[in-house]
Amino acid sequence: MAKIVCVLYDDPVTGYPKTYARDDLPKIERYPDGQTLPTPKGIDFTPGSLLGSVSGELGLRKYLESAGHQLVVTSSKDGADSQLDKELHDAEIVISQPFWPAYMTAERIAKAPKLKMIVTAGIGSDHTDLQAAMERGITVAEVTYCNSHSVAEHVVMMTLALVRNYLPSYDWVRKGGWNIADCVARSYDLEGMNVGTVAAGRIGLRVLRLLKPFDVKLHYMDRHRLPEAVERELNLTHHTSLESLSKVCDVVTLNCPLHPETEHMVNAQSLKNFKRGAYLINTARGKLCDANAIAAALESGQLAGYAGDVWFPQPPAADHPWRHMPHHGMTPHISGTSLSAQTRYAAGTREILECYFENRPIRNEYLVVKGGQLAGVGAHSYSAGNATGGSEDAARFKATSK
Ligand code: NAD
Repeated sequence: MAKIVCVLYDDPVTGYPKTYARDDLPKIERYPDGQTLPTPKGIDFTPGSLLGSVSGELGLRKYLESAGHQLVVTSSKDGADSQLDKELHDAEIVISQPFWPAYMTAERIAKAPKLKMIVTAGIGSDHTDLQAAMERGITVAEVTYCNSHSVAEHVVMMTLALVRNYLPSYDWVRKGGWNIADCVARSYDLEGMNVGTVAAGRIGLRVLRLLKPFDVKLHYMDRHRLPEAVERELNLTHHTSLESLSKVCDVVTLNCPLHPETEHMVNAQSLKNFKRGAYLINTARGKLCDANAIAAALESGQLAGYAGDVWFPQPPAADHPWRHMPHHGMTPHISGTSLSAQTRYAAGTREILECYFENRPIRNEYLVVKGGQLAGVGAHSYSAGNATGGSEDAARFKATSK
């Protein structure tokens, strides 16, 4: 029987919810490319309930324990007294989420001799040292597509929030003011702007489609070119480099995975190519950007705004520059963990576990690493190597937060 260690974020400070704001979720059966939503044999949770926090347990306990397995759920992942570290010696599967990532570094993998599979309950497996996983023959899987549209909606929200100066204007209302000039002195229309996405995969393409009706000019770069028909339909300009895209775009949105090729792609040097006053939206991964270079670009006015929900490491210490820089619209990492998305990634995690325990193949599109190499979405969207360096700094969150 297997031991499964599941690292999830804490329950709300007000306690695990007893009621919810809404009674149901819309029914979605397929994603636009025809891929079906997760198809586990069963689920033991109510769609729309909080599944991603410790008490939600991804709805997995009944299924795993009735099959005789041991499930350990914890939010304690960083620092000297981490529960995760204490459980690794006999763990067969580790599950965690990008929102509250269990950084599965080479050191942690070495401490887990029985480890066979690492599952990301969500999308983005950069918190696992993929090189170390390949070398140990560990399978890495994620729930491809489960929250791509959730993130795309967040990108649109953050784009509008920055361009129209929503958050500072909201603050004036909360402060009791009616300061129209203060609000509008940094407010513009999105209409007519050049908007570019770095990567046009599931999220990036959805962002392009959602923004099209705003009558913007759309640009993209990706290592895989989109079909000609899609380029024509959306009137896209294709770029082969970030330099070429950022030189013409008023809004740039990052939608590629973090891997050695993309780490720190936005840095002091590459920011010089951005148009003065560009807006940068990053809901992909914090480490795609050099944190200090972003803060400096906002201070100097090279960037007019920066928004996103992803940081490095996570959680970020209280002194992380993105908490305090001007003209930002940051949230904690939430875009892919709406209650709607949680239902999909909990069901997808269950599907992956059912396949594993029943010796059935895991869907190819869910695989990141398999049999010592990148596979499935991993082969399409990642490059080999390790992007977890520096993740130990996540332990400073507890020490620095009130
Ligand atoms: P996807 O696999 O469908 O698309 C990724 C795209 O990135 C692919 O088209 C790939 O060709 C492209 N790409 C990879 N390396 C590139 C490079 N060096 N240059 C240009 N393009 C490159 O994945 P997706 O569903 O669109 O998700 C993308 C990423 O978004 C995830 O890997 C994850 O890091 C992030 N994400 C964040 C959240 C969140 O909650 N904030 C949720 C889901 C995903």
